[in-house]
This record gives sequence, C-alpha cells and structure tokens, in this order.
Amino acid sequence: MTHHTVDQLLGRSHDEWVKAAGALRFETRLFIDGEFREAAAGGTMESLSPRDQAVVAQVSAADATDVDLAVRAARAAFEDGRWRGLDPKERKRVLMRWADLIVEHAEELALLDTLEMGKPITESVRVDVVKTAETIRWYAETVDKTYDEVAPAPGDALALVTREPLGVVGAIVPWNYALMIASWKLGPALATGNCVVLKPAEQTSLATLLLAELGSRAGLPAGVLNVVPGRGEVAGQALGRHPDVDKIAFTGSADVARLLQVYAGESNGKQVSVEAGGKSPQLVLPDADLEAAASAVAWGIFYNAGQTCNAGSRLVVHSSVKAELVERIVRLTEATFTVGDPLDPATVMGPIVDTAQLEKILGYVELGRAEGADVVLGGGRARPTEGAGAAGVSRGAFLQPTVLDGVANGSRVAREEIFGPVLSVIGYDGDVVEGIRLANDTDFGLVASVWTRDLGTAHKAARALRAGTVWVNTFDASDVITPFGGFKATGAGRDKSLHALDAYTALKTTWIDLG
Ligand code: NAD
Repeated sequence: MTHHTVDQLLGRSHDEWVKAAGALRFETRLFIDGEFREAAAGGTMESLSPRDQAVVAQVSAADATDVDLAVRAARAAFEDGRWRGLDPKERKRVLMRWADLIVEHAEELALLDTLEMGKPITESVRVDVVKTAETIRWYAETVDKTYDEVAPAPGDALALVTREPLGVVGAIVPWNYALMIASWKLGPALATGNCVVLKPAEQTSLATLLLAELGSRAGLPAGVLNVVPGRGEVAGQALGRHPDVDKIAFTGSADVARLLQVYAGESNGKQVSVEAGGKSPQLVLPDADLEAAASAVAWGIFYNAGQTCNAGSRLVVHSSVKAELVERIVRLTEATFTVGDPLDPATVMGPIVDTAQLEKILGYVELGRAEGADVVLGGGRARPTEGAGAAGVSRGAFLQPTVLDGVANGSRVAREEIFGPVLSVIGYDGDVVEGIRLANDTDFGLVASVWTRDLGTAHKAARALRAGTVWVNTFDASDVITPFGGFKATGAGRDKSLHALDAYTALKTTWIDLG
C-alpha cells in the first residue's frame, strides 16, 4: 500500500476520504503474544459507525480466558528479559521505528478512529495520529538519557538507587482519544521495560490493533505489547482482577476508576493510577479579553463534540460581562462549528460516539431546562445534509452545539460530566474570591482556566484553583512535556512528561559494603 504523508492527507477532499474508507482493510482479532487470534470462546462485538450507523466490523471480544493468555504472554516476555534486557539503544531504536511506522500508516489509523468514533478526519490525522507518534518518540528518547542515583552513603559503602520496571502493566483506555491516550501509557511503560496488556474501549478497538501490529513490525518482541478488545465488565474487569498484573493504568469515567481500585484491593493489591473525568471551569473576570475568551470557551467545549475529559464545560463568568461573552460565544459557534460527515475535511464537529451517549446528552439538556436553564444555542439533534459520497449520514448521531445559560452551580448540569457539546454558563457577582469559590465547587479537578489582564490576580487565582492544570488567558494548550491528570475525584497519578516514568517503575536500593 502507498503511504501518504500527513500533508498529503490534510489536502484530501471529501470524496477521496470516502473512497479510501471503502478500500480500507484491517484486522479485527485480538493481538496476543505477537499474533492475531480469535477470542478463545469465539466472542465478538459489533462496531457501529456513529457517522451513518453502518457496521464497521465484528471485532473479537476477549473474555477472562483471553485476558489470562495475554497476561501470561506478557509475564513470560518480562521474565526472560527479551525487552527490558535489551541494550537501551536498541529499545530506543525499536520505539523510534514504531513512531515512524505510525506516521507512515496515518491514513489507516485515522480512518479507523474516524469510522469507529466519528472524530473529524482532519483531527484524527493532525492531532491523534501525529501526537501519538510524537509521544512514542519522546519516551523513546528517554530510554538512553535517564540515569539512576548513587546515594551519599558513608565511605565504606556504595548505595545505589535504581529504577526497575514494575512488570506486567494493564492499560485500560477510553474511546475519545483512543490512540493518544494509549500512547500516554504505552510510551512510558515500554520505555522503562515493562510488558503491557492494553484493553481499548468497546467503541474503538481497530486503530489500537493496528498500533500493536506496527509495534511488532518495528521490533517489539512477541508478548511485550498485547491488545485485548472486549467489554469493560468482562475483559476490563478480568484485567483489573488478574493476580499477575502489577499495575493498572486507567483513563475513563470516575465510576469505573473506583471499580478498578476495588478490583485491585480484592485481588493482589496491584498499583492503580487513574485519570477520570472533569467538570472543568473557565473563570472569566470582568477585565478579561472577551474576544479571546469567547474563542477559547467555544473551542474548549465543542472540540471533539465535547467528548474531552478536560472540556471547559463550566463557564464561570462575572455578571457584568456575561451577556456580552455569551453572545460572542454563540455567534462564533454558529459561524465556526459546522456539524457534518466526519470524513469531510470541512467538518468541524462530527457525530457523538454512539446513540446511547447521544441520548444521555439530550437527557441532560432536558434536565437543564427543567432545572431552569435557558437554552440559548442548539439543544437538539443536528441534521447534516448528505454531501457527495456521504449517503446515509442523516442516520448519524449528530448533535447541535448547545449553550445553557443561567445555570445554578448546584444543579446537576453544573456538577455532572455530560461528555458532550453542552456548555453550562454560571454567572457570579462579587469579587475574584467568589469566582474562585464557584470554580472550585466541583467534585473534579482536572483543569481550570482564568481570564484576566491583571498579572497579580492571575497568579493568585492560578494558585487557588484546585486542578492538575491551570491555564491563564488560554485553554487546552498542552504538550507531552508537561504532566496531565487531576485532583479530587479526577484521579491519582499523572500521564505525560518525565514524571510519568515514575508511574511505571519502582525504586530499588542496593547497599554494598566496601569494607
Ligand atoms: P468508561 O469508564 O466507561 O470506559 C473506559 C474504559 O474502561 C473502557 O475501555 C471500558 O471498556 C473500560 N471499563 C468499563 N467498565 C469496566 C469495568 N467494570 N472494569 C474494567 N474496565 C471497564 O469511560 P468512557 O465512556 O470510555 O470514556 C469517557 C470517560 O473517560 C469520561 O468520563 C472522561 O472524562 C474520561 N476521560 C478522562 C481522561 C483524563 O485524562 N482524565 C481522558 C479521557 C477521558
């Protein structure tokens, strides 16, 4: 197959993408011990595209037997040192080659993600695939650049503090950024010498299966990376309860995060790091640049159709500027967020991942109305027109970008994660202390932003906001170089940056008597 560069892909037309989707061939079986294989009991799951409700594939669905096979393969690979025992330069070379293959296969990876979860194809290429490769490459670079320690022991002793891989890591990931979030776990876990069993979300198995195949072609030895698509309560639970898994690295909802902590406690006490949801505030003070804030608020909630853990889903804004800001957000959204076929490069907002999620979001909009909010934008299904080659998209799971004004912070639409394109606007009177109090009045603590022109206020607010990332006069600026994760119900642990290496290693002290 011919490989297209990212730039070539970004220049494609709607018709070209529809044709490429029709010609796509892909693997649907579990990837265990370096091979694709059916689930032992023959189980499958149907993957439907939210674009038009067409069946994308029947994907093999792992059960506890398959998960056990994958864990055994990972354990065997860990114990014989076929990966952790390699010369660090060689491990780095394999990971670098993997990143190159990810970019070479951007077309298939992006199409699989877009067909399965409805993300606009341009974003799948430009953000998901490119950042996944970038993350793997960044962690590959750490392999031959991290050093261990010599402790200041007395003269007759040598005390070494070394990092060792934990062993077998179970990674359980969600569907909203299937490849990218997988890479946040796989990069540091594999760079530090662990072996991994990855359980993708039910809705997005296919791109992760290709990711594993590319890893194998790059030189990851058999058993080092296994992928077990399957249902959360079956395959995910089996991984969470497995007695021979050393760590679970999870991203997903807060409810499942807690279940995984229970499974760990009830099995072998494995380590669990969790990145769960958010209800993140954008705090806009009266002196803010309203034009910049309006754009950041709209992109912060409507990007990826609001299906982003760090979506800025609560706008906490001073009453004196609320009307003007809301009006700007509504105008900008109407002008920018074209809802349509995710295979059309002109689409800015694709469908919702599936109809169950769509119904859940519509339920929240109704709840918002019942709680007294004004629906000042959207509030219902969107009906994109059928463009060339886009037959059937009117059956897709499309929603209008929605703004709920006049929301009380105690109401459910202000407190629960809707995980869709719904902004809750909360006005406040009084000083910055009151704004911060409202912004912090949430069970979650993933991200927050503050908009003000006053430097001192910005610093004080940034300190006071309880979130893993605080943005000042911007939103969603991020990179693999900084940690990502949250306070409170959002989680325990951080992805990304050098700090993530700590999550996949344990310290060992070796004390040598020199006497
Ligand atoms: P989810 O919790 O339903 O599923 C996440 C993963 O857990 C999936 O692979 C699923 O199959 C698995 N799972 C489900 N039940 C399980 C069980 N009983 N045992 C083990 N595994 C199980 O979440 P989702 O709907 O896929 O994703 C959306 C959620 O993810 C949102 O809450 C969002 O905020 C969160 N999220 C958080 C971050 C972050 O970094 N904080 C990033 C992205 C998404």
